[in-house]
Amino acid sequence: MLPSLTIHEAHARLARHEISAVELTRSIYDRIDRVDPALHAYLHLARESALAQAQAADERRANGEDTPLLGVPLAIKDVICVDGQPATAGSKILQNFVPPYDATAVARLRALGAVFLGKTNTDEFAMGSSTENSAYGVTHNPWDVERVPGGSSGGSAAAVAADLCLGAFGSDTGGSVRQPASLCGVVGIKPSYGRVSRYGLIAFASSLDQIGPFAKDVIDAATLLGAIAGHDPLDSTSMTAPVPDYASRLNGDLKGVRVGVPKEYFIDGMQPEVEQSIHAAIDVLKSLGAEIREVSLPHTDYGLPVYYIIAPAEASANLARFDSVRYGLRIDRGDLWETYRATRGEGFGPEVKRRIMLGTYALSTGYYDAYYLKAQKVRTLIKRDYDTAFEQVDVIACPVSPTTAFRIGEKVDDPLQMYLSDVFTLNQNLAGICGVSLPCGFDGQNLPIGLQLNGPAFGEAQMLQVAYAYEQATEWHTRKPELA
Ligand code: GLN
Repeated sequence: MLPSLTIHEAHARLARHEISAVELTRSIYDRIDRVDPALHAYLHLARESALAQAQAADERRANGEDTPLLGVPLAIKDVICVDGQPATAGSKILQNFVPPYDATAVARLRALGAVFLGKTNTDEFAMGSSTENSAYGVTHNPWDVERVPGGSSGGSAAAVAADLCLGAFGSDTGGSVRQPASLCGVVGIKPSYGRVSRYGLIAFASSLDQIGPFAKDVIDAATLLGAIAGHDPLDSTSMTAPVPDYASRLNGDLKGVRVGVPKEYFIDGMQPEVEQSIHAAIDVLKSLGAEIREVSLPHTDYGLPVYYIIAPAEASANLARFDSVRYGLRIDRGDLWETYRATRGEGFGPEVKRRIMLGTYALSTGYYDAYYLKAQKVRTLIKRDYDTAFEQVDVIACPVSPTTAFRIGEKVDDPLQMYLSDVFTLNQNLAGICGVSLPCGFDGQNLPIGLQLNGPAFGEAQMLQVAYAYEQATEWHTRKPELA
């Protein structure tokens, strides 16, 4: 079945001219038509332009060109701009917004000949952990349609897990690639801050946001990361550090690699099966030759409160641009002030409003020092914890999410419970380091469990090396959900 191919498998068959990109793209749309009504991974399908891109890819290949992504169909989270396709960010306020340009990540994929199938569901402005905050309905987890796929990039994770694309992209501000990857049983990477250009990513929290890939295995994820990484003059926070060839460096060797296990990442209230699976995965790394060491990240507990000051503070500033004048929704009340009020009142959902209020409060005169400035100082301490740990070890191994996929509706009325689903994924963004989630087991209800590996800033190559070695030694990534 063509949609179930990995990118490297599809590439091999495309390169041998056994299949065409048009055939591959059609087969995926057929599957989307059958399966997506039950999942709602996609918000928008771009059939016509995708088939034209596939056709163009086939022509390039007929002319002797080749790239690992030439003719490969991908899905893009609806917070990332694709020229000519809607970009709603899961919000009513951007209902009719069609960006006239590509995000840099998308432009790079386009140049390599990738095919853009459509846009995937997301929590509104990427604020959430379940896709339930989307203004356009929830996405269902392919492993159990009564459960959430995680979030905020839940549409992209579900699309990869259900073979509704060969790979996908999301954004990760505090876990939004890793957590849905974990809950849907696929591989997801949060690159180091500055590794990937944010140009054309609709901003949530600019000092934390990164675009990252979802894939069916580590090689594919490495290929997708390599395709989008690197300096971009359009994003002054993107770094000039050279981009290693992540995919071709992978081999199964872990001898001499020091893997740290942070004791603060095994806490009361974790699902016991998650804890067991992570320990079992660490044993596998050990059996492959890695040296396992306990490390301490003493400021771990402060991550959640620090994140929920800094991220909303930045969001409150970033979202000020949605003023009904330039983009999207406009509810005209004659008077400018009333027009702002009506448009933003109707256009933003409750979680976005909550974040704007939190952020505006934390930044206001009299509270700035007590909240925002204090949070920035603690952020530095969290970063230093990682600096110290990475003097002792090369890679850190820990859980992604304290539980497997929860039920739709279970946490939606309790913001704090929802925020707690990211306790293990926030600090890496605060510290600017890289992370990957990869399948490492299933719970008693056949729901996937993810292992998180972290590397220091710009340490993606070694982190992916450990991920690949683990994947080679296990079979979790080969399991597929049974869909009607
Ligand atoms: N769930 C976290 C939040 O709601 C992280 C979201 C993200 O990474 N975009 O902010």
